[in-house]
Amino acid sequence: MKATWQERFAEFPDVLRSEARLRTAIPIQDFEVGGDEFITFAGPCSVESERQLLSTAEHVRSAGARVLRGGAFKPRSSPYSFQGLGVEGLKLLARARRLTGLAVVTEVMSECDVQLVAEYADILQIGSRNMENYSLLAAAARSGKPILLKRGMVATVTDLMRAAQCILSFGNPNVMLCERGIRTFETTTRNTFDVAAIAILKRVSHLPVICDPSHASGDRELVPALARIGVAAGSDGLIVEVHPSPDEAWSDGEQSLDFDGFDAMMADLEPWIALGKTVRCGEAAMKQVEVAQ
Ligand code: PEP
Ligand code: MN
Repeated sequence: MKATWQERFAEFPDVLRSEARLRTAIPIQDFEVGGDEFITFAGPCSVESERQLLSTAEHVRSAGARVLRGGAFKPRSSPYSFQGLGVEGLKLLARARRLTGLAVVTEVMSECDVQLVAEYADILQIGSRNMENYSLLAAAARSGKPILLKRGMVATVTDLMRAAQCILSFGNPNVMLCERGIRTFETTTRNTFDVAAIAILKRVSHLPVICDPSHASGDRELVPALARIGVAAGSDGLIVEVHPSPDEAWSDGEQSLDFDGFDAMMADLEPWIALGKTVRCGEAAMKQVEVAQ
């Protein structure tokens, strides 16, 4: 007989959904990730300047975002690319939070920086390249901050769940799983958006799932369609790159939406989000499927 999903992922008991733990809603400021509200995280790939960050923060807030994203420490594959503003970037993020009321998510790349980043961020982002950096996972977990765990670009769903189990086992229950595309033989898009992973994670885990159509596609023209697909697959939220002038961005400009593009994407997503919510709230139905397995 075919093994159930719960049996297949039995190694990660804390990540698995059960009757006692159908879903985890993570409190952030005055809202929750993984609760009834679909949460949008938006902002530039990198923090570049006060003007760039504050104008973006203002804009995405007015269009419905709850969380401002922006990298201060950037994992760049070339040593000659912009590496991020570091502490200066964190300070700008904190200023944007004060002025707009948005929560802040930003990447922490090294265990040595966890305390510093945790002083400024509401949510710590563990990037794709660090999903299996277990000493970083441990340090981030121990900070007590909620964690956005991005799937490694060559990580399986099992690997992602293993990394999440690791954070949970260090006593931090507030983990969000992020599908941001994986490497495959397909090179037309920057990565291949693994929507089945979203459906599986929603099926087997109580943790919130966030999709990242920006890194999944690498192309701003595709971002709205991938966002819709991510929402329809059951995501609890999305993280999307937005820049006042994408062609001048210091990183990931090709996949960043401008303000009008972000507004259009959000307007377009509304009916899909409403539908997703209904599905997500159908816990009685999901419970029945679980019992039937
Ligand atoms: C980012 O969010 O800008 C980023 C570098 O993401 P990832 O780790 O998914 O590549
Ligand atoms: Mn980026």
